[in-house]
Amino acid sequence: MIMVNAFQSIRTKLLKVITESPTIKTFILDCGGEFEFKTGQFVEVGLPGVGEGPFTPSCSHYTKNPIEITIMKVGYMTSKIHEAKEGAEVILRGPYGNGYPLEDFEGKHILIVGGGVGLAPLRSLFLTLVHDLNKYNGITACFGARSPEDLIYKEQLKEWASIDGVELHLSVDRVPEGQNWSGNVGVVTTLLKPLSIDPDSTVAAVCGPPIMMKFTSLTLLEKGIKPSNLYLSMESKMYCGIGLCRHCTIEHYFVCKDGPVFTYDQFENPEAIWA
Ligand SMILES: Cc1cc2nc3c(=O)[nH]c(=O)nc-3n(C[C@H](O)[C@H](O)[C@H](O)COP(=O)(O)OP(=O)(O)OC[C@H]3O[C@@H](n4cnc5c(N)ncnc54)[C@H](O)[C@@H]3O)c2cc1C
Repeated sequence: MIMVNAFQSIRTKLLKVITESPTIKTFILDCGGEFEFKTGQFVEVGLPGVGEGPFTPSCSHYTKNPIEITIMKVGYMTSKIHEAKEGAEVILRGPYGNGYPLEDFEGKHILIVGGGVGLAPLRSLFLTLVHDLNKYNGITACFGARSPEDLIYKEQLKEWASIDGVELHLSVDRVPEGQNWSGNVGVVTTLLKPLSIDPDSTVAAVCGPPIMMKFTSLTLLEKGIKPSNLYLSMESKMYCGIGLCRHCTIEHYFVCKDGPVFTYDQFENPEAIWA
């Protein structure tokens, strides 16, 4: 097993790159040994001479090597990572923060709601839960994307839908000409409204763009999910990743140290956290 302290990076080798959508790729990294993390935690990933950024592994936490990171191209560093070729050296440090408290999920129905690249940490959660599916009372996953070509993990989603105990619902915001889609069209909350769930025995995990997380949270609360059972995987501008620089604070929390997974009731004014 690889031991990394908070300040130590390891050099990994990029084994394979999978194109998930026009802007999102999954990077498979050989860590040279077992890399331990808890689902929902994040790592700092970078290229020598370029920089680094926080990303959540998208594989199950039972997959210790190679690990998978799914990255959307949004700026300088992520563009450079998207250009990296198999065999490249990728720097990794972590893991950091708090993951999902899976012991609190046991015996409950798990509702997973994701949008866009927010499916990355939720893929990790989903695959980790599926590993011990008998511990949970089934999984419902509702995933959305802007358009059919923006939906990631397409082939895997078909496999997930066929797992006993798993219910999968997909939606896209719109279907541009030339793209095929036979499923639901509308924002991801349109999938939630008709769902029949027992709010008292359901735990929800949400990750996606801030606007999606805001309205998904409100819809889930309306459906009776308890704020303490509503888990939000938060993103915030982050630099040090270890609770020193204060760039990532939301209310009095450091997202890097106290999160990135929070429950809705941890925030004093949750309506105001979606900057
Ligand atoms: C805990 C955590 C986990 C994350 N996990 C993933 C993941 O699994 N996959 C993934 O693709 N991305 C993830 N992100 C976001 C990712 O870290 C940023 O998109 C990346 O660092 C941007 O680097 P850049 O140099 O390419 O962009 P920059 O040049 O720094 O910025 C380009 C644009 O992206 C915006 N941006 C930059 N960082 C963030 C951020 N953290 N949140 C929202 N907008 C941002 C900027 O405002 C700007 O508009 C995560 C962020 C956090 C805090």
